[in-house]
Amino acid sequence: MFPLDKDKLDKMRQHALAEYPCECCGIIIGFPETKEKDILFRCTNIQNKLHAMDPETHPRDARTAYNIDPRELMKILKEAEAKRMSIKAFYHSHPDHDAYFSEEDRKMAMFDGEPTYPDAAYLVVSVYDGEIKDEAWFAWNTATGSFERHSN
Ligand SMILES: [Zn+2]
Repeated sequence: MFPLDKDKLDKMRQHALAEYPCECCGIIIGFPETKEKDILFRCTNIQNKLHAMDPETHPRDARTAYNIDPRELMKILKEAEAKRMSIKAFYHSHPDHDAYFSEEDRKMAMFDGEPTYPDAAYLVVSVYDGEIKDEAWFAWNTATGSFERHSN
């Protein structure tokens, strides 16, 4: 079961194309039982800023990494709480790379050895030469203790 409706998928793809050759990132909030009220937020990828400020701690720039502006993340979490919604998905793009869940992606999704949002899906959009090539979503699997790819 794909976690998003077509409209949100289109928005996510448009965002991925708009940010190419950098990675885009965003969040979808909503109610678990329906897709109809889902809200998609485009987030600012601050990876280039982090890389410029401290290249030793952040060796990658926005072409191969993303970092959601923490103030935006906080705002979205507050809005979700006020609406009694939860985070359904995080999405980001892989410019000139396939739609896999990288080691960096795993690190970003974990905190202290546990998934930070165990119920959220993680969508990865692959863009090559300014065109969508593929997309895939990943979710935490309690049985295997890792993020597993789901078929669309
Ligand atoms: Zn990634």
